[in-house]
Amino acid sequence: MPRYADFYRQSIDDRDAFWSEQSRLIEWQTPPRQICDYSNPPFAQWFVGGRTNLCHNALDRHLARRARQPALVAISTETGTERSYSFAELHAEVQHMAAVLRCLGVKKGDRVLIYLPMIAEAVFAMLACVRIGALHSVVFGGFASGSLAARIEDAEPVLVVSADAGSRAGKVVPYKPLLDAAIAQSKHKPAAVLMVDRGLAEMPLQPGRDHEWALLREQQLGAVVPCEWVESTHPSYTLYTSGTTGRPKGVQRDTGGYTVALAASMKHIFSVADDGAAPAGVFFTTSDIGWVVGHGYIIYGPLIAGMTTILYEGLPMRPDAGVWWSIVEKYRVTHMFSAPTALRVLKKHDPQWFGKYSVKSLKALWLAGEPLDAPTAQWISDALQVPVIDNYWQTETGWPILTLANGVEPQVSRFGSPGKAMYGYQIKLIDDTSGQELTSPGHKGVIAIEGPLPPGCMQTLWRDDARFVDTYWKSLAGRLIYNTFDWGLRDADGYHFILGRTDDVINVAGHRLGTREIEECIAAHPQIAEVAVVGVADALKGQQAMAFAVARDSAALDSDAARLKLEGEVMKQVDSQLGAVARPSRVHFVSALPKTRSGKLLRRTLQAIAEHRDPGDLSTMEDPAALQQVRELAGR
Ligand code: AMP
Repeated sequence: MPRYADFYRQSIDDRDAFWSEQSRLIEWQTPPRQICDYSNPPFAQWFVGGRTNLCHNALDRHLARRARQPALVAISTETGTERSYSFAELHAEVQHMAAVLRCLGVKKGDRVLIYLPMIAEAVFAMLACVRIGALHSVVFGGFASGSLAARIEDAEPVLVVSADAGSRAGKVVPYKPLLDAAIAQSKHKPAAVLMVDRGLAEMPLQPGRDHEWALLREQQLGAVVPCEWVESTHPSYTLYTSGTTGRPKGVQRDTGGYTVALAASMKHIFSVADDGAAPAGVFFTTSDIGWVVGHGYIIYGPLIAGMTTILYEGLPMRPDAGVWWSIVEKYRVTHMFSAPTALRVLKKHDPQWFGKYSVKSLKALWLAGEPLDAPTAQWISDALQVPVIDNYWQTETGWPILTLANGVEPQVSRFGSPGKAMYGYQIKLIDDTSGQELTSPGHKGVIAIEGPLPPGCMQTLWRDDARFVDTYWKSLAGRLIYNTFDWGLRDADGYHFILGRTDDVINVAGHRLGTREIEECIAAHPQIAEVAVVGVADALKGQQAMAFAVARDSAALDSDAARLKLEGEVMKQVDSQLGAVARPSRVHFVSALPKTRSGKLLRRTLQAIAEHRDPGDLSTMEDPAALQQVRELAGR
């Protein structure tokens, strides 16, 4: 077994040989003629000249050996249903969907926006898109019409795939009214909408535009839709994420690089040994298909590795806090991937649930998306008696930047640290004032990555190369280097620690939100003159959004009842425009917001006060007295 340090070094010093070897983990219709073209930095083109297909690698290539093995198990504790699809059955369903997409006019290169709950049809739709070379753009089902409209407008999809409703904690959440409102709001109008009827809510269809999946599927039974071989650099999907402006960023990913990166991660990071004969294992990722973890590790990664993947619609403590462990026992889950918030929620429940089910099949638990605190890591590690492995990455990178590659060399987790630089990532810590690289251990700097980014990472931002370069590559150190916008430090053994974001992005229960987006939504309320939204530390969710607003008519807010009424209205507006995930925990009304003399909003000062920390130097502030009111309100 090689030492990880050597493996890592080879990935940097002999990059093309390293990735050439990894590229053999997947099937190509035409093998690449060049491993990496970095002649136009920071745009990296991986596996140039190669032709492949993501759906082929996830499904078709397994048919010879695994046709009858379960590929997808869709479990819903919301509707009380469980459905298993073998590789052959999933292959057939994906072809039905691909044929329907084609009938609705979807062609190679077209975008299909997917706004679906955690149901099997979402998996069919994603795989069907990449099968025919169309790009999917999945929008998290928890987002409401405003967020959806912004994404429809940017992606310009020819088709939207949606459903009558999602369900959360037994409460039906109708999707169709949100979708109709979003399309009405958007300048771009998709030509067609494909609706999955789960029988949960009314689903009025607009003649000529809206179609019912069940009816169209019926017409395509037995359809054969071969995979469209695409260039390695052909985009497979876009996925929107938040940044410092209100406009979401469409992270664009390629096909060949992404497929190779996921295949390599399944082997080296998730230690999946595919000997071709025995089942490769069962992967259970508790994320949502609307997030990057869902793309990579509910759908593509496990399927590429020939594993059974579990799609779970429901909460971790419903019907009781043992539900995940009952799934682990029933399906003999070998690999589990979750987020720290969910575990913090479970930690509050009775530990007896662990004793009730056998979790012997589990090899390890991976956690990502937000900082994993050491007490939670220790608690779950004691309860499950398996390695607990933190991993740090971003929508932009598509797979872990920092973790432990236990498939290369088993290493010990150090709780509080997501681990070491993964192969392919040349990580630097940069001093944000001098722009110098910090090489000695223990110094806090901005985590940056030297180009080229390894395969699987973002190619660019959808139709916005300039924003890609300016935002990510020109914001640090006065030279071209990728900015993660996270603070971090490295110890003498190469373990890294993440110390929070450098920008105005907040992380609520693992959901990444831009405070600007929430501010823009609140500022649209007719009674709000100005608003600042900050992330405030929260024991359960990591962070919570908190708003400080100035009302247009502050005299009208002379009573608690009037303030509560306006606060309620503002929250409702956020719910209906962005979704409940973005709703601030409080909207505090103040007479002025803290600003510098040049008029810049001091969000960090607000955040420090809301977290009962010392706000530091206030000498640049226009009116330090404005903070008194903030102190009083935040102290309540
Ligand atoms: P997203 O793009 O939604 O996956 O969010 C990425 C951001 O989440 C990162 O830039 C970090 O701020 C944070 N994050 C993700 N994983 C971790 C982790 N393991 N530890 C600490 N922060 C994390």
